[in-house]
Amino acid sequence: MILDGKDLRRKLLSTARAMNALGLNQATSGNLSVRCGDGFLITPSALAYQDCTPEDVVWLDFSGQLIGGGEQRKPSSEWRMHRDIYRHHPKAGGILHAHSPYCSVLACLERPIPPFHYMVALAGGDSIRCAPYATFGTQELSNGVLEALRDRCAALLAHHGMICCAVDLDRVLELAIEVENLARVYVLALQVAEPPLLSPRQMEEVLHRFREYKA
Ligand code: 13P
Ligand code: ZN
Repeated sequence: MILDGKDLRRKLLSTARAMNALGLNQATSGNLSVRCGDGFLITPSALAYQDCTPEDVVWLDFSGQLIGGGEQRKPSSEWRMHRDIYRHHPKAGGILHAHSPYCSVLACLERPIPPFHYMVALAGGDSIRCAPYATFGTQELSNGVLEALRDRCAALLAHHGMICCAVDLDRVLELAIEVENLARVYVLALQVAEPPLLSPRQMEEVLHRFREYKA
C-alpha cells in the first residue's frame, strides 16, 4: 500500500510510539524518519511522541531545508544523520535512532557486536560496528555513523545508542528489535564468558543464505 503524506506522518508517529512501548527507547530520546517525496519526514525535536500530532512531524529536503513552508516544529537534532544516510543508502526508506538499553550498554563500552551469533549478519556483514563518540546533533557524529554503516544497515553510537535503516517503517522497527536482542544476548553471554566467534567463512555462508532468503 502506498501511503500519502498525511498517512505517512501518522505511520511515523505510531511507529515512534511503538518503539517506546516496546522498551527500545525512552521518553523523547531517539528519533525516527521516513523517506517522502524529494525529502524525508522526521520526528520533531524534544517532543513526547505521545503528544505529537501529524502536523508536528517535520518535512525536510536533502539539503536540510524545510519543505512546504509555513510554521513547522524544530526537526530532530539528528536530522543531519538521517539526511546523510538517505543520501548514501538509496534503498533506505526508514531510519530509526534509539537509546535502547542493551545497545547502549555496549556503545558505552565502545564495543561493536562481533559475529558471536549468526543473526549479526542481518545488519549486512560480520559485525555491527560502533561509531566513535561525537556530540549529538553534529556533522561529526553523522560522518562517523556513515562510516560505521558502510555496507551495513545497523550501527552502535559510542556513549549514545544505536541506529538502523531499512526499506520502510515496519522493517526498520523489526530490525531495531532484532539488533537490540542481539545486544542483549551478547551482554548476557559476556557475563558467563567471552563467547567464541563464527569464522569469516561461516558468516559469509549466512550472508549468502540471507540474500537467497530475502530474494
Ligand atoms: P531529538 O529529540 O532532537 O530527536 O534528540 C533525541 C536524541 O536522541 C539525540 O541524539
Ligand atoms: Zn540520541
